[in-house]
Amino acid sequence: MRRVRRLGVMGGTFDPIHYGHLVTAEEAWSQLHLDEVLFVPSGRPPHKKDRESLDPEYRYLMVAIATAENRHFQVSRVEIDRPGLSYTIDTIEELKKVYGTKTDIFFITGADAILEILTWKEPERILEECYLVAATRPGYDLDKLKKALPPRIRKRMDKDGRIIVLEIPSLSISSTDIRERVRTGRSIKYLVPEGIAEFIEKNGFYR
Ligand code: ATP
Ligand code: MG
Repeated sequence: MRRVRRLGVMGGTFDPIHYGHLVTAEEAWSQLHLDEVLFVPSGRPPHKKDRESLDPEYRYLMVAIATAENRHFQVSRVEIDRPGLSYTIDTIEELKKVYGTKTDIFFITGADAILEILTWKEPERILEECYLVAATRPGYDLDKLKKALPPRIRKRMDKDGRIIVLEIPSLSISSTDIRERVRTGRSIKYLVPEGIAEFIEKNGFYR
């Protein structure tokens, strides 16, 4: 009997991808003994209607560039190629179809994003379909996360382990800060891979 494959899934806007994302994915891979981590750049995220994000193809390309040298990182086009708004549950179900039943999915997010997910479409079904991995972000209070969860979901965190909290090296990097730095002409060196900094510069993104 073949053992169950452990697939990490990291969704995000990746506008642009940065070392916070990459370190988190790598930590999840090693701490949770994942076979691979699949990065899933979003199409049009329903919760980010307020700001125009960069063209999905460019965000996808940046993720591909940033993950190219890591053998256990892959990039997926599922959300980019699906028309309409992107919902996490639809993505998870689509991946389950592609990878089959012999795969456990570990959906990796920042601890802050977990709260967002649980306010999205069908949080209970997300927990049926996969493990949620909450990577602690600098300054994030886990008790706050627990208290903010609805009681029936908090129970799953404590009891059946469907929500896994992962401690990652502190990194207060965010795409918002990187865009702001580029806009105001400050350095983004050591916050994003070199190839990403060059790609942003070459194409004049975020100016
Ligand atoms: P923005 O500032 O535009 O919201 P972001 O830096 O939060 O961008 P996203 O693409 O929104 O990046 O995030 C994708 C996923 O990565 C989310 O689950 C988010 O919580 C997580 N994440 C983002 N930055 C970090 C970081 N520095 N450390 C750990 N996880 C992070
Ligand atoms: Mg974010």
